[in-house]
Amino acid sequence: RAKQEGRGRARFFEPEMDRQLREKRSLQRDLQAALSRRELHLHYQPQASIDGRILGFEALLRWQHPKRGAVSPTTFIPVAEESGVIMEIGEWTLREACREATNWSGGLHVAVNLSPIQFRHGDLPGLVHAILLETGLTPSRLELEITESVLIGDHARAIAILRRLKALGVGIAMDDFGTGYSSLSYLQSFPFDKIKIDQSFVMNVHQPQSAAIIRAVIGLGRGLHLPVTAEGVETDNQLAFLAAEGCEQVQGYLIGRPLPIEDYRSLVGHQAADARSTGTRRC
Ligand code: C2E
Ligand code: MG
Ligand code: MG
Ligand code: MG
Repeated sequence: RAKQEGRGRARFFEPEMDRQLREKRSLQRDLQAALSRRELHLHYQPQASIDGRILGFEALLRWQHPKRGAVSPTTFIPVAEESGVIMEIGEWTLREACREATNWSGGLHVAVNLSPIQFRHGDLPGLVHAILLETGLTPSRLELEITESVLIGDHARAIAILRRLKALGVGIAMDDFGTGYSSLSYLQSFPFDKIKIDQSFVMNVHQPQSAAIIRAVIGLGRGLHLPVTAEGVETDNQLAFLAAEGCEQVQGYLIGRPLPIEDYRSLVGHQAADARSTGTRRC
């Protein structure tokens, strides 16, 4: 098709498109092997109440590529979704995060991101149920983060799956709220447990438009009796604004960066040491 658009353009675009395609295929191949080569791991970022109490951690995937070094999930998740290997990666992530969270004390929750692909194929509620049984994690301590894109397409099927997940006792959070499509109707069609305001609004809070959107989402949460978490909180000014507006929960570099869980051992409590002494902790 590029050729029909004129010779000059075709000559200009084809090598670049070719390069991108080869790049994607190469990442796809490497991703397939990444799991078995143990190149994937999870970092954990604290989620806190506005007064600084740690409530839980979000698990975020990291890929340490043998040649490329660290590859961002914003690069490799779409590639994994396209090739389908996200199904395996998603299962590994869920199991790994749930297993890790059983080491934490004080009822801290773990939040796990789900891909829309995991809703379209396989039996997600069955998998989550099996992993909860296998790890022994209390269902209410697992929170699944989904974006609005899950609800696009086969909406009825997505809602049915969400209901089955909720029936297991896990929490469902709407991630990146405000960046997708027709967000408001989605809030009506499913009883979410939490709304996460996208970090793009928090970062631009000094702009009246972003401030207005944050206020509106916090008001929405209040009206629907849903806790609202602000993402991407980096500065004291942002935190002060959110506190003044009545935002209940925060997440961001100001509270803590995504890091290996070892770096947060003092925050997650003594459960790991206890379990190790009784020989039940697997590692
Ligand atoms: P997300 O779920 O919205 O995660 C929040 C992203 O914001 C993370 O980027 C996190 O590192 C970053 N972040 C947190 N606080 C701050 C801050 O104060 N400032 C800035 N500039 N950034 C902050 P990350 O880890 O690169 O992940 C990006 C996206 O990749 C995630 O967005 C999520 O959509 C996806 N992702 C990550 N892990 C998984 C996973 O296990 N499964 C799936 N399906 N997607 C994942
Ligand atoms: Mg998330
Ligand atoms: Mg987000
Ligand atoms: Mg995001």
